[in-house]
Amino acid sequence: MTQQVLVLPGDGIGPEITAEAVKVLEALNRSDNLDIVLSEDLVGGAAYDVHGVPLSDETMAKAQAADAVLLGAVGGYKWESLDISVRPEKGLLRLRSEMQLFANLRPAYLFPQLADASTLKPEIVAGLDILIVRELTGGIYFGQPRGIRTLENGERQGYNTYVYKESEIKRIAHVAFQAAMKRNKKLTSVDKANVLEVTELWREIVDVVAKEYPEVTVNHMYVDNAAMQLVFNPKQFDVMVTGNMFGDILSDEASMLTGSIGMLASASLDANNKGMYEPSHGSAPDIAGQNLANPLATILSAAMMLRYTLGREDLAVKIETAVSKVLDQGLRTGDICSAGMTQVSCSEMGDAVVAAL
Ligand code: NAD
Repeated sequence: MTQQVLVLPGDGIGPEITAEAVKVLEALNRSDNLDIVLSEDLVGGAAYDVHGVPLSDETMAKAQAADAVLLGAVGGYKWESLDISVRPEKGLLRLRSEMQLFANLRPAYLFPQLADASTLKPEIVAGLDILIVRELTGGIYFGQPRGIRTLENGERQGYNTYVYKESEIKRIAHVAFQAAMKRNKKLTSVDKANVLEVTELWREIVDVVAKEYPEVTVNHMYVDNAAMQLVFNPKQFDVMVTGNMFGDILSDEASMLTGSIGMLASASLDANNKGMYEPSHGSAPDIAGQNLANPLATILSAAMMLRYTLGREDLAVKIETAVSKVLDQGLRTGDICSAGMTQVSCSEMGDAVVAAL
């Protein structure tokens, strides 16, 4: 059955890196019975310039109708002074919230060929393969009330509310347990239950859901310790599950273990495994338009799309194997290039992956 994929390149390096992922998908369409139709639209600053909003209603409708969305990145200097309601990031937040993408999966996988690209010692990170499952539509980033108010004495006070309902914790816990079942059956749930009641509930509910997955070993860790353990002994982790804010921070920390943010894919899924796929990095305005960006995070995001939404695990593995082959050939974009390797451009990297497929 033909499946529809909406490509939203966005801003900065977005169009360059998505073009390479599209090349790879089109190659699989030709060679491997992949039957997807790719269409393209605007998001972020690019959409604002045309429509006056970072995501038009028409584009939102196309995203809802598609089987999956592949996104580049949004944002850039040009749009930084816009009112917050129409900033490029709002387009992304609208997609996440209206598509109900509550589960963010961010693998921190270190290709062995890049062990020396990490700032940590190779023996600490070699073989690293962590999956961080972050709750994406709740927690303190969305909790009400929020704002900045003026107190009686005239002093201003900023405030946010950290909330999770049982149902929200339950559904993200199920995603994490199911992911753990497909991997090494080990789950670490991260909270701050010693201080925050909301995460005391988180811990309790994770333990309730755990009863449905007796094969998975669960442990609980306070977020401050988790941050420390990630750089001390990261290989102790298999799947980590946590709330929106802790996940935001820990997944960026984990990403650095793998050398470059240019290697890190992500998936954001709804309750039916429909999803939006995007690299973990931003629009890198400092290198945009120069054919310098590393497209591998986006290409690996396309692999995740094949795995989680389009039902083609075989082709996901095929892309990942091709990326590994290209790294074996010594080809590197600037962000991961070290002595003795061959530096290639963004488009040359995409071509090399297609050739290796
Ligand atoms: P960034 O991730 O864009 O860049 C950080 C650094 O990493 C830069 O030096 C950049 O050149 C480098 N980098 C990032 N991706 C790379 C790649 N594929 N290949 C090689 N190098 C790469 O983060 P930032 O500089 O903090 O933000 C830039 C803009 O991106 C801002 O407008 C920000 O709001 C936006 N942003 C968007 C997203 C998103 O679309 N999901 C996420 C984060 C930041």
